[in-house]
Amino acid sequence: MKVKFIGAAGTVTGSKTLIESNGIRILIDCGLFQGIKPLRELNWQPLPVLASTIDFVLLTHGHLDHCGWLPRLVDQGFKGKIYCSGPTKEIAELILLDSGKIQEEEAEKANKEKYSKHEVAEPLYNVEQARKVFPHFRVVNTNEAVPLDAEISAVFVNAGHIIGACSIELKLENKILVFSGDIGRDNDVLMYPPTKPKKADYVFLESTYGDRLHPDSDPKSELEMYINNTFQRGGTVIIPSFAVERAQMIMYLLWQLKEEGKIPDMPYIIDSPMGVSAFEIFFENRKWHKVSLEDCIAINKMFTMITDYQETIDAIYNKHPKVVIAASGMVTGGRVLSYLERYIILPETTVIIVGYQAEGTRGRKLLEGAKEVKIYGKYYPVEAKILEIEGLSAHADQKGLLNWLSALENKPEKVFLVHSENQPADELRIKINETYGFDCSIPLMGQEFEL
Ligand SMILES: [Zn+2]
Repeated sequence: MKVKFIGAAGTVTGSKTLIESNGIRILIDCGLFQGIKPLRELNWQPLPVLASTIDFVLLTHGHLDHCGWLPRLVDQGFKGKIYCSGPTKEIAELILLDSGKIQEEEAEKANKEKYSKHEVAEPLYNVEQARKVFPHFRVVNTNEAVPLDAEISAVFVNAGHIIGACSIELKLENKILVFSGDIGRDNDVLMYPPTKPKKADYVFLESTYGDRLHPDSDPKSELEMYINNTFQRGGTVIIPSFAVERAQMIMYLLWQLKEEGKIPDMPYIIDSPMGVSAFEIFFENRKWHKVSLEDCIAINKMFTMITDYQETIDAIYNKHPKVVIAASGMVTGGRVLSYLERYIILPETTVIIVGYQAEGTRGRKLLEGAKEVKIYGKYYPVEAKILEIEGLSAHADQKGLLNWLSALENKPEKVFLVHSENQPADELRIKINETYGFDCSIPLMGQEFEL
């Protein structure tokens, strides 16, 4: 068989690994490249094989960097099935529709401002094209062999990380290939620990945090302190957050603090239509996480969930202290901007950053102590306190990644380190070799291996 790395090789986005065996082509994940422009431009490149010749896509989870290129694949003639877990299908649909909308808006903006070098800027895909992916989804049960062909089968197992996330064990040509997908943490607040593989001839391991250890800090007590300090000043807390997973985690921590009587009575608001939908998926798929039905209902009750923009306006003009969770997570767009327009100039406000902030984003600038911030073309002085809570990552750190390999009963022929910048992958390579003596390889984009 042949394996070709066509995304998330030497970088953390655009996950795509192509397997070819006896005329069958399988794509593991089909993610969007994100971040700096040279990476985003890769989204416009065709695949090295015709989309119509790919038989199956196996999807590890619903994050955009793992599923966001599916509309292009379908548009270019993919006719096969996309296998994934139930919640992954739901999350992927939510994320693809949102992505289609963002692509449309960006093309529209480029045309309006004429900053595109093309005559007319086209979206990478639109909402309608995103929708055309949905009929291809086939939901699978975890821990059960899914036959793809007489000779090929796949088993999806829980990977923690976000709701529905799986690692995939692919059996073909009498070999077992294990694709980690994104691996969660062993002690995650919401998710169960990832299932460790027992047998593998080849491992394809994500290495996002291959060179890092998560801090020992306690995010819950930091949240408690920041909220109480802000409340005492009569201020509002604004938490920019990704709608999937991170928003549910913050809601859960806030609910626990409230239950324990550690934070005051005031409005707790989640202002994100996508965040509200993600909570519904979370609510309906309880076997995938640790939160009970009763607790889910209580969390739902504690929060004011805003989907209508008029309610956003009302919340913004209500001067009383409150806690608002709103997207986007890196303050690049979304409803959080409407709150910041009014609240960033007030010294009693606290903005709590709870996720990774990529270079060039407004969130990163705020973290780095920007004195003013531009929102919808206008500059605002930053008077609010900008604080950060680390330690909420949904990815395993170096220790977690090493631990994930600890149950292997045989020595794999090779461990491919993917989904990482070069430095973390290389440090992890050395650690894995020292710890287990496994042979590791860090594939380059476009590199092909004969297994
Ligand atoms: Zn992910």
